[in-house]
Amino acid sequence: MAVRVVHVDRRSKLGWMERTYLPAIVAGLATTSRVFFKNLAGWLSGKKPGFVVQYPEERVDYADAFRGMPVLVQLDNGHPKCVACGLCEFACPTDCITIVPGELPEHGIERYPDEFDIDMSRCMFCGLCEEACPEEAIVMSREVELGAYDREGTNYRKSDLLVPEPLLKRRLDFLRSEYGRQHEAPKD
Ligand code: SF4
Ligand code: SF4
Repeated sequence: MAVRVVHVDRRSKLGWMERTYLPAIVAGLATTSRVFFKNLAGWLSGKKPGFVVQYPEERVDYADAFRGMPVLVQLDNGHPKCVACGLCEFACPTDCITIVPGELPEHGIERYPDEFDIDMSRCMFCGLCEEACPEEAIVMSREVELGAYDREGTNYRKSDLLVPEPLLKRRLDFLRSEYGRQHEAPKD
């Protein structure tokens, strides 16, 4: 995979004017005003009918790189694709993943997650679990509407996290193109 490295000029010493933050504030206001008047002109001319999303009746189509809550890929046989290796649990910076591995020898699966919990109140949607997973078994979904009446409600169990693989195709295709991965069809 070709990696694009962006060098950011981090100046160690700021001048007196920069220390007032005024140039940055003016630049920010100029950008906001430019976009506002561009959208307004488009709306007045009819070229851009509307730029307000009437949520929740209307939804925006998030970019392919968008990261919603992490979910588990569910195979056609109903099992999670996860092999309970624990790499995502190790990679998670907020320690919000808890995996209890189990064995399913009768299905030819050496390890599977007997329990797989994610505490969404601590998850920061960073995607490190997705990057660490060697099985494409945990991916970032497009779901962001998470609500609960108490802390226990934010603890998502395996059954809450499983999503059939075809519904995650768009994210899986994005990951394969982004990381240059070859896809292997799961064995029965
Ligand atoms: S998205 Fe980040 S914080 Fe959330 S479970 Fe994955 S690694 Fe942890
Ligand atoms: S890294 Fe992937 S295969 Fe390993 S435990 Fe996490 S989700 Fe399962």
